[in-house]
Amino acid sequence: MTDGKRFYITTAIDYANGPPHLGHALEKVGADAMARYRRLLGQRVHFVMGLDEHGQKVAQTAAQAGVTPQEWTDGIAARFRQAWAELGIGNDDFIRTTEPRHRAAVEEMIRRMQAKGDLYRATYAGYYCVGCEAYKTEDELVDGRCALHPGREIEWMEEEDWFFRLSAYREPLLALIDRVDPPFVQPVARRNEVRRMVEEIKDISVSRSLMPWGIPWPGDPQHTVYVWIDALTNYLSATGFPDPSYTETWPASVHVIGKDITRFHCVYWPAMLMSADVPVQESVWAHGFMTMGGGKISKSAGVSFTLEEAVERHGAEALRFYLLREIPWDGDGSFSFDRFDERYNADLANDLGNLANRVLSMVAKYRDAIVQPAARVELDEHADAAVRQYRAAMDANLLHEGVASAMRLVSQANASVSVAAPWKLAKDPEQAAALDSVLASLVRSLAVAAVLLSPFMPQRMAELWRRLGTGRAEMPLLDGVGAIDPAGWAVEPGEPLFPRYEPAKA
Ligand SMILES: [Zn+2]
Repeated sequence: MTDGKRFYITTAIDYANGPPHLGHALEKVGADAMARYRRLLGQRVHFVMGLDEHGQKVAQTAAQAGVTPQEWTDGIAARFRQAWAELGIGNDDFIRTTEPRHRAAVEEMIRRMQAKGDLYRATYAGYYCVGCEAYKTEDELVDGRCALHPGREIEWMEEEDWFFRLSAYREPLLALIDRVDPPFVQPVARRNEVRRMVEEIKDISVSRSLMPWGIPWPGDPQHTVYVWIDALTNYLSATGFPDPSYTETWPASVHVIGKDITRFHCVYWPAMLMSADVPVQESVWAHGFMTMGGGKISKSAGVSFTLEEAVERHGAEALRFYLLREIPWDGDGSFSFDRFDERYNADLANDLGNLANRVLSMVAKYRDAIVQPAARVELDEHADAAVRQYRAAMDANLLHEGVASAMRLVSQANASVSVAAPWKLAKDPEQAAALDSVLASLVRSLAVAAVLLSPFMPQRMAELWRRLGTGRAEMPLLDGVGAIDPAGWAVEPGEPLFPRYEPAKA
């Protein structure tokens, strides 16, 4: 059912110590497809992304570049925003943790947690890796060094910090994680791992001394708010918190994050919200990793290449399609340019592009470009089934299955062209009604596919919709798809939607 339900979706905020790379892109296009799907349902979507700009590593990187941390993060923020715009990400807001609105929200969180008696001072000591900006336990060290930063000296540090009484929230957190409907941790397969984290929780330090690039601790300015309260609060500051109107947007319907940061989003963050008497987010979706050549794509893992390279290959929309078709949204997957080329030619140039080209050309040739009223045929049933399968997949956030159900319809439409052979029907005046039915069902299937694929390829599918000559600028909501009747549409054949990729010969 179409509803006017509020849907607030966020992505993890990326760390501002380097420019965006392909590893960042999967999460953003996935969240964007989820947001666009909710808009297709008629929901009131608010989609927020942002940038995590504080911390020692940013200060160090800025110093190496010979600029102030603020100048550095201003430059990086511009690059992230540009990258997301080029990928067609339709976020409503972009929150930066150096903004005054964010600082106000962090200060209010701390005031509330303090009033609850959940913040206290104690000595913190341990091995500290500057590369990770984190203390390391001894069993996390390899040969006395951080496994991720073997080139750096590990430091023993002792300091008086502010601590959050996380351990006081063990029982309510367990109840939250065990909730069945709706599940808090998604995909549900990740629930047990998070449950184990909660069973072992200890209080955590939430401030640092001697870290100048951050938000000063309210009432204790020699301390800086450490990453957890600072970064996680972005989801709340983007709603205008603590202004009372923040409840028009909050709580978040889903935080979309990578599976490596479930501890912070499924344990630390809900406990902080409980402490501050703010409603807890409704769910967390932890997607898997994209690998390339066997390694996770990230700056710290050393496997990084420009996002531009991937966008230039076949365009931003094809990249979005490939990532979300190929990499299961509830698991891991790998990226390769060879596979990207194959998928592009097979799915987009051949299956979808050729179908559109053949169908629109036939309507132009046999019916003066006007789709005739016609009886429904088997392909129309396939189209209705595709909508049902798509909806079930997308409601469960299984984006790859959503794409697959739309592409199955495209294959069925191609098969029906071969079987029905409209070019033969066109030679026989007795078969005029049959030809009308074949053409109408094909146009209708294209219209359905355009709607179903619009969260994945918004611009190309808007162009396909335009060429179908529907007489309406906007696509219908998902609930209206079943009622699509193409009679009277004036189709417009044109250049291929997805020109075939021919690799340069060596
Ligand atoms: Zn490290």
